[in-house]
Amino acid sequence: MTNRRVLLKRRPVGEPKPTDFEVVDAPVPTPQDGEILVRTIWLSLDPYMRGRMNDVKSYAPSVELGQPMVGGTVGEVVESRDAAFRPGEFVLTYGGWQAYHIARSAGARVGPFGPIKLDPRAAPISTALGVLGMPGMTAYVGLYDLGQPKPGETVVVSAAAGAVGSVVGQLAKIRGCRTVGITSSREKCEYVLKELDFDACVSYRVPDLAAVLRDACPNGVDVYFDNVGGDVLKAVLRVVNPFARIPLCGIISQYNAAEPPPGPNLGPVLVNRVTIRGFIVSDHVDRMPQFLADCGRWVREGRLKYREDVVEGLDRAPEAFIGLLRGRNVGKMLVQVGADPSRH
Ligand code: NDP
Repeated sequence: MTNRRVLLKRRPVGEPKPTDFEVVDAPVPTPQDGEILVRTIWLSLDPYMRGRMNDVKSYAPSVELGQPMVGGTVGEVVESRDAAFRPGEFVLTYGGWQAYHIARSAGARVGPFGPIKLDPRAAPISTALGVLGMPGMTAYVGLYDLGQPKPGETVVVSAAAGAVGSVVGQLAKIRGCRTVGITSSREKCEYVLKELDFDACVSYRVPDLAAVLRDACPNGVDVYFDNVGGDVLKAVLRVVNPFARIPLCGIISQYNAAEPPPGPNLGPVLVNRVTIRGFIVSDHVDRMPQFLADCGRWVREGRLKYREDVVEGLDRAPEAFIGLLRGRNVGKMLVQVGADPSRH
């Protein structure tokens, strides 16, 4: 048995390239007392990983050169030196871009990444990385706790066909709001309109996004869940209502930027008394039980739908990650690293 791993070889300047990564085979590690050896089945690819490739101070440490890329994983326990876990059980861990890893369980969830046991009868285990995992919880706390949408209000969300955005729009509908998505392509708009039941969807690849948004939001914008920043935020700021709320979730439009772009015009924020609130999902772990209760139920009832965009094989993780930053994914981007015995 060897442990295939994808290491960070070089710190990218601008968009990451396949040569910034290195695929190597290493020995499979041996668990010590209190540890479990996990075979990775699903690896989550997420935009925040781009920030971890840089050598700059942030809310989480960078990946060291020569070390495996970090990431949330769902896997199967192969060997356990922890009485709380048995071989064959499924777990959510933070195993990174590798086929096997050691996790120190302690039996308790330490954040949105576990470690925690998963019950394949409750939901497909891969959902612990998407709709019922960190991205779903980001949508839940960002929209409900920070956005505070009221029935009848208009909620706009960018990267609407992605892991977080697709959940935000559906949670807004569940709350009784008018829901408008912003995304890149007609195909993605069709997905959010037809499958996810958004009320409207617009592409940001238009000469005057503010004008298009004004048509799609005849009553203005009360909550803008921002996943992208940049020009899209600038356009939405021109159509916000007084006392609008903007949960600032991500600024993916500048994750590959070598230089910080010039700042937005904040005039409308002042004039409309808008609240902009940045947040990081891991500060809201206390909301996990309520998130899982609500979203777990809505998934089972079919009110909260999700799509997974799966590539096969760890070797393809770099190319899939580069594609995620270019918007090639629809729904949650996952790598299937190994066989999933829970799916028949
Ligand atoms: P997605 O599944 O939405 O994938 C990323 C999407 O971003 C792409 O599909 C693409 O969609 C869009 N995108 C890429 N480049 C641009 C660009 N230049 N301008 C506009 N849109 C772009 O990813 P996630 O749902 O996992 O994450 C969405 C956002 O939420 C990210 O910014 C991420 O960093 C953030 N996030 C924040 C968390 C927090 O705790 N604050 C936690 C989790 C995620 P399109 O085709 O529509 O352009």
